[in-house]
Amino acid sequence: MEKANIDWGNIGFGYIKTDKRYVSDYKNGSWDEGRLTEDNTVVISECAGVLQYAQTCFEGLKAYTTEDGHIVCFRPDLNADRMVDSCKRLEMPVFPKERFLEAVRMTVAANEAYVPPYGSGATLYIRPYMFGSSAVIGVKPAEEYQFRLFCTPVGPYFKGGVKPLTIRISDFDRAAPHGTGHIKAGLNYAMSLYAIVDAHEKGFDENMYLDAATRTKVEETGGANFIFVTKDGKVVTPKSGSILPSITRRSLMTVAKDYLGLEVEEREIYKDELKDMAECGLCGTAAVISPVGKINDHGTEICFPSGMTDMGPVTKKLYDTLTGIQMGRIEAPEGWICRIK
Ligand SMILES: *Cc1c(COP(=O)(O)O)cnc(C)c1O
Repeated sequence: MEKANIDWGNIGFGYIKTDKRYVSDYKNGSWDEGRLTEDNTVVISECAGVLQYAQTCFEGLKAYTTEDGHIVCFRPDLNADRMVDSCKRLEMPVFPKERFLEAVRMTVAANEAYVPPYGSGATLYIRPYMFGSSAVIGVKPAEEYQFRLFCTPVGPYFKGGVKPLTIRISDFDRAAPHGTGHIKAGLNYAMSLYAIVDAHEKGFDENMYLDAATRTKVEETGGANFIFVTKDGKVVTPKSGSILPSITRRSLMTVAKDYLGLEVEEREIYKDELKDMAECGLCGTAAVISPVGKINDHGTEICFPSGMTDMGPVTKKLYDTLTGIQMGRIEAPEGWICRIK
């Protein structure tokens, strides 16, 4: 298969139209059989549930080429499960897990020319999403929905090397207790835009959100979970019902325990403990782990001993091991790698 004429090492994280995307419509209480289409536009009612009341959720995962030349995805079953949870919380119909996985396989296979080659650092980002498409004016769930899945090649995250981030503790809240922080809903992102633009204007890369009820415990950033390494080498991650359960973070905790033999703990982490941590990283599909060098708490800087030039040693091991598993250089736990071709 001839690859698309793309300078893989130099593309950013933006939308590049590929050949085919998957669509399935929900009407009269059931999903249709679904199809691939070349049409990258969506035509819906001006009064669609998604446009009026933001009834929509999404997922994000990647396909890439392994060292031995296969095209694979990383734990897509967990994305399917998480989308089920998101749909239920938003009163949307569930798109069956097997069909979600089939849509991933079909769309990636149909866009094989856009799956970046091994070693380029680039990957094919896959975006499944669902939205209420029928007209809704009184507040209630829509009656019709569309599930769609497209993919777009994205460049290496750490272009020109890793650069530890500077983040600030935000005065805005991301998610209320018993709210929607644990599901992947567009509405969680819409309301985070003001805070992230404000953070960037003030020279910070990201916001660290605290728990909304007490503002004493670490939650996550707008789009990535935290992991910390304590000074005695334990890997800890915040436990909270309003954090989005990152697949990358869950995988890293398994890697820490089973591959690196480290002690791991998911527990409440207080803001006051940050100064005692040795390393800090942000976990998500896009970067796997982005190291955090310092945290600004209303003018007081908390600087991690790992510094501002490189990943900390444990973060680096976690990163190398998980990316090694993903790329087929290290044997993966059962079921983690889903081969498409
Ligand atoms: C998607 C997302 C993450 C990262 O999850 P992954 O499954 O690792 O990509 C973390 N936090 C939020 C709020 C997210 O939406």
